[in-house]
Amino acid sequence: MKKHIAVYPGSFDPITYGHLDIIDRGLEVFDHLIIAVARNSEKKGLFTTDERLDMIRETVGDNPRLKVDTFEGLLVDYVVAQGAGVILRGLRAVSDFEYEFQIAQMNHTVQEKVETLFMMTSVPYGYLSSSIVKEVASLKGPIDSFVPPPVKEALEAKFGSK
Ligand code: ADP
Repeated sequence: MKKHIAVYPGSFDPITYGHLDIIDRGLEVFDHLIIAVARNSEKKGLFTTDERLDMIRETVGDNPRLKVDTFEGLLVDYVVAQGAGVILRGLRAVSDFEYEFQIAQMNHTVQEKVETLFMMTSVPYGYLSSSIVKEVASLKGPIDSFVPPPVKEALEAKFGSK
């Protein structure tokens, strides 16, 4: 039987419990999931691509159904090269919709074999984003309920702790 492989792309600067929720639920739906960190998001980020990868790997551990990787250039080319057919994205508020809609349409126009599927955020993470976590961390606010321990340590190393 054909294996269903999905790519979950993003900046992951840094990974949060909101991302991890989508990853856990994605693994319930797909045989394999590839977490793909966008290399071209490094310039505008807080962490380097390698730091983001290390935090993700430390958090998700070893799972034969999960791969952690990076990609550069056109996402749909990467998806096809990985033998995947699906791009998995998370949706939070309506504000995510316009951007995601545009990208999904563009990706489908460029590569019609690849579908984008969306998973709605779980209730506790509807407001959670990497940016808001960075902001709270920079103000030395509590971040335990937003990010896993390796990310908390990395953020405290950047911004200091109370
Ligand atoms: P990008 O810069 O590509 O949006 P992000 O790392 O911000 O990268 O997000 C990657 C994906 O994870 C996006 O589809 C985003 O909507 C989703 N995501 C981020 N935070 C959450 C959350 N709290 N709940 C659900 N999905 C989320």
